[in-house]
Amino acid sequence: MPYHKPMTITFLGTGTSTGVPVVACDCRVCTSDDPRDRRLRTSVMVEVDGNHYVIDCGPDFRYQMIREKVEDIAAILFTHGHRDHIAGLDDVRAFNYVLNKTVDIYASDTVVDSINKEFPYILKEKRFFGAPQLHFHIIDNKPFTINGVLFTPIELVHHKMPVFGFRVGDFTYITDASHIPEEEKGKIKGSSVLVINALRKSKHISHFSLDEALQVIGEVNPKQAYITHLSHFMGIHEEVSRDLPDNVFLAHDGLEIRI
Ligand SMILES: [Zn+2]
Ligand SMILES: [Zn+2]
Ligand SMILES: [Zn+2]
Repeated sequence: MPYHKPMTITFLGTGTSTGVPVVACDCRVCTSDDPRDRRLRTSVMVEVDGNHYVIDCGPDFRYQMIREKVEDIAAILFTHGHRDHIAGLDDVRAFNYVLNKTVDIYASDTVVDSINKEFPYILKEKRFFGAPQLHFHIIDNKPFTINGVLFTPIELVHHKMPVFGFRVGDFTYITDASHIPEEEKGKIKGSSVLVINALRKSKHISHFSLDEALQVIGEVNPKQAYITHLSHFMGIHEEVSRDLPDNVFLAHDGLEIRI
């Protein structure tokens, strides 16, 4: 069963849609010397059996693949169709060329619609010959397997937009949520590692605040929890980290967790 397989989680990016530093901002966070205060757009990579599953493919995808020296990806899974989560899809071409293979994409109907609008040349019948070669697998709120690994979608709410989180074994990944419906909470229970989004300390319409994320973490009670999708308003990594409960950490780019 996939549940007993060792997994490595790599945070490819942990920043909100603007990234941190924010262009033209000279706040303390954006000018911090700590590399942990530099956050590319949010994405993680899950490695199981030597296969790399990338969740979301934002505008920093190309650099994230180079930084982590990723030579092959088994699939890209999408949480939702916002630009900071899909904008890097054109750079999948490199894997098409180098590996001479089509890349598998797991996404809901609505995400495929957003991809269609953002990259009208990918899905057209008469494709541009240089377009990325992708094989779309449409997912809904039902578990699915890739190479024998079970992925369970968790339907979350991002203001009013449905967003998928994913559970793989004892790892749960939640980004861009502002609410977790009661009936989906059972899927998260028993996770040993929970990644959850928090934008900043104050309330926001479409993302959890730090306190709201801590409340979910308290309910789920995982061994470890990591906060992602941070804006510069969250504060300096080192300072915010000091005030967190013992089992809760701010994620940072390049951080690796083994489960
Ligand atoms: Zn986002
Ligand atoms: Zn700033
Ligand atoms: Zn979003």
